Amino acid sequence: MVGLDYQNPYLSPFDEFQRFKTHPEVRPTFEGGRRVAYGARAISEGGFQSLPKLSFPGGLLVGDTAGFLNVPKIKGTHTAMKSGMVAAEALLDALGEGAPREVKDYPEGVRASWLWDELYRVRNIRPSFRWGMWSGLAYAAIDQYVLQGRAPWTFRIHADHAQLRKAAESRPIAYPKPDGVIAFDKLSSVYLSGVNHEENQPSHLTLADPAVPITVNLALYDAPEQRYCPAGVYEIVRDADGSNPRLQINAQNCVHCKTCDIKDPTQNIHWVVPQGGEGPSYPNM
Ligand SMILES: Cc1cc2nc3c(=O)[nH]c(=O)nc-3n(C[C@H](O)[C@H](O)[C@H](O)COP(=O)(O)OP(=O)(O)OC[C@H]3O[C@@H](n4cnc5c(N)ncnc54)[C@H](O)[C@@H]3O)c2cc1C
Ligand code: SF4
Repeated sequence: MVGLDYQNPYLSPFDEFQRFKTHPEVRPTFEGGRRVAYGARAISEGGFQSLPKLSFPGGLLVGDTAGFLNVPKIKGTHTAMKSGMVAAEALLDALGEGAPREVKDYPEGVRASWLWDELYRVRNIRPSFRWGMWSGLAYAAIDQYVLQGRAPWTFRIHADHAQLRKAAESRPIAYPKPDGVIAFDKLSSVYLSGVNHEENQPSHLTLADPAVPITVNLALYDAPEQRYCPAGVYEIVRDADGSNPRLQINAQNCVHCKTCDIKDPTQNIHWVVPQGGEGPSYPNM
């Protein structure tokens, strides 16, 4: 897992994982194995401080859509189910003559349930990791074992996309070339995700301003989308003489991790739903 609040625009989560596998303590776990599948996914780790308004006319936000994942546990199935149950109960109560357009009993029900209490108690753990892993672990132990999640303070959180430093203030990272045995390249990995998008559909990766990838992302951050995308969807291509840089979006490779929508420094990239339920097709799922 890589926290998307990282600062160095040269960081590549995919390559960090490939390098991790080659660590002498980790390598034996993978040696003799065979790569059978590949996928990537962003998890919603904003927690309690990020919860949005949970109801609107004609709709309710449940599960990961609302951000109900318990971040320290990296578990969200139980909270997704609980929020679905609370939503169902609130909807049932609201059915019938004079039904309200917005079911406001649902947010009330969530607040009254163990789900709210559970998220509240772990709210300070992920933000404390901004001080580094060891300090975060030490804080988490005090927060959970001594204060039992009832600290009289709540740490503020920050938007991941706003954390990137400029390329000029950052150190480029030289990742080792994949050996094809333990570590692999992006494109052959993407092939194993079984991803499929019909080529002639409109791109589901849309840009609010098509100039920004060059005037901002390339100019200031050395085009970080080339590195944070785990599927090699974003490429800066140039003419033969190196001039005329432009962003090429290989949308058919997208494994729907949503990192670009989260990490793009100016929030210029919008992931929209592709046609026909297309995307990765993970085995055994
Ligand atoms: C790698 C990883 C490991 C995890 N491990 C655990 C774990 O061990 N234990 C645990 O409790 N939790 C775990 N989680 C978290 C857990 O998977 C989620 O919290 C949980 O699945 C959220 O459930 P959900 O129903 O809200 O969303 P999802 O399970 O994401 O379901 C949403 C569904 O909606 C579909 N969908 C999206 N858009 C559309 C559309 N436009 N039209 C139709 N369908 C659409 C999606 O395809 C998907 O099937 C893990 C998450 C990840 C990424
Ligand atoms: S294009 Fe965006 S959503 Fe698709 S794989 Fe790349 S980062 Fe993930």
